[in-house]
Amino acid sequence: MKTTIVLATRNPNKTREIRKLLENYPIELKNLDDFGPIPEVVEDGETFDENAYKKASFTARVLGFPAMADDSGLSVTALGGKPGVRSARFASENATDQENVDKLLDEMKEKSDRRAAFECVISIAVPTGAALTYEGRCEGTILDAPQGENGFGYDPVFFFPDFNKTFAQSSLEEKGRVSHRGKALAQVTDEMDKILDWIDIHMPRPEPFECKGK
Ligand code: IMP
Repeated sequence: MKTTIVLATRNPNKTREIRKLLENYPIELKNLDDFGPIPEVVEDGETFDENAYKKASFTARVLGFPAMADDSGLSVTALGGKPGVRSARFASENATDQENVDKLLDEMKEKSDRRAAFECVISIAVPTGAALTYEGRCEGTILDAPQGENGFGYDPVFFFPDFNKTFAQSSLEEKGRVSHRGKALAQVTDEMDKILDWIDIHMPRPEPFECKGK
């Protein structure tokens, strides 16, 4: 029997990447768009850890299913780790990917140290609040101008030396093998049997009740 896990996101790119990586496991992976409107969780944590746990535990509690959330972003050495947990909102609260990339390129104009790393934390939580955490990191450099059309977010300016190209010039399969999210998910898939047992043990059981009448 398949275990339903809700991916705590409405981002179709993330859902697509994660579905692909988990396609061979006995999991029915839903995302928030499979449900009615639910309250938005405020991502105000100071670390990827905190935000991932907030999203996963909140979603599990509200929907009553095990939930998985990733919080990820780009940490740039010359910017003291920025944009970090603010990666999605670097240029402004509702910034587009293009606006965030433009702001990054602007802040990096005079910088000779181009090192950067994508980081990802995955939290898997059950409705009681218990959770498991997995982490992944991927190092590269920031280009002066975007290259490539694939992917999302900062992919067009994130140059991955081993591939000699940006993540936006790489296929989903290539990126999934080496990316921060791919690495964190590889740990999840390596431990999948244990995780599914853990979910089973920690999911609340409905209280038995008796019906009156004959
Ligand atoms: P969140 O994890 O959904 O809060 O979003 C983090 C933000 O970090 C995204 O909106 C992107 O801007 C950036 N980001 C995270 N992962 C990637 C990636 O694989 N490629 C490019 N940008 C990413």
